[in-house]
Amino acid sequence: MTKAPLKRARAAKPGAGRRASKGEVYLVGAGPGDPELLTLRALKLIKRADVALHDNLISAQILALLPRRAERIYVGKRRAVHAMRQEAINALLVERALAGQRVLRLKGGDPFIFGRGGEEIDTLSANGIPFEVVPGITAALGVAAYAGIPLTHRDCAQSCVFVTGHLKDGTMDLDWAALARPRQTIVVYMGLVGLAELCQRLIEHGMKPTTPAAVVEQGTSRSQRVITATLRGLPRRAAAARLHGPTLTIVGSVVRLRARLNWFAPESDAPAGPRRRRD
Ligand code: SAH
Repeated sequence: MTKAPLKRARAAKPGAGRRASKGEVYLVGAGPGDPELLTLRALKLIKRADVALHDNLISAQILALLPRRAERIYVGKRRAVHAMRQEAINALLVERALAGQRVLRLKGGDPFIFGRGGEEIDTLSANGIPFEVVPGITAALGVAAYAGIPLTHRDCAQSCVFVTGHLKDGTMDLDWAALARPRQTIVVYMGLVGLAELCQRLIEHGMKPTTPAAVVEQGTSRSQRVITATLRGLPRRAAAARLHGPTLTIVGSVVRLRARLNWFAPESDAPAGPRRRRD
């Protein structure tokens, strides 16, 4: 397949001081964990990187695909613990590209879903650095597939929303009435700390306490764990399971389908029925 050359970034605004650069930046979605969920384009760019900036969502198996000579820079972040501030990451991308390197910015899932990818390429654009964006399988899609939970289903859900459950000032600022609508699946990223508040607010806004819900830890990996319960019971079940993350929460009647459609047998599960172990 031939590939169009990297897009030159829009010329910077007059006065922004467009600088000449030899290097380029690839903003690449690495998918939710299983290396086989990388796109072909991601793999190609990983293999030609001079330097890779990555966070804790990138598995060791994916980092092992980098050329041996490639420099690896860990830039965080896990909850509030940032190895490097966003501005410093943006500046580093610019600096390395201006030094002529092929810079790989590896992001978990998809770079444009709760990934601040837009901010990173904005800085590149302002500095006249050529860049390319490679979409990845976002956690919601990968995790749901490997948990045997179709996110939409004719009989259960006609829409699906992705929200962040990240707490700001200790609370979750979401449109609860819109979330609690019937026949809709809700997928919550970064929602473990606020799980009790999430479930309580959805019930307060009219969702049945018996609505099926799940928390999936390290989805698509061999350590995947899936906790299912009712909306009312989920926080207690999740606490008892001592989950560490990353975790994704799925709420809606589609979760019930897992009982029949669960096909993936990670290492932590006992082998069962027709389920399949990935190798
Ligand atoms: N850009 C990423 C999301 C970054 S936000 C994407 O598109 O997937 C980080 C959150 O993603 C985590 O807190 C968690 O909620 C979710 N996540 C990422 N990978 C996951 C995985 N393998 N299993 C469960 N949740 C995951």
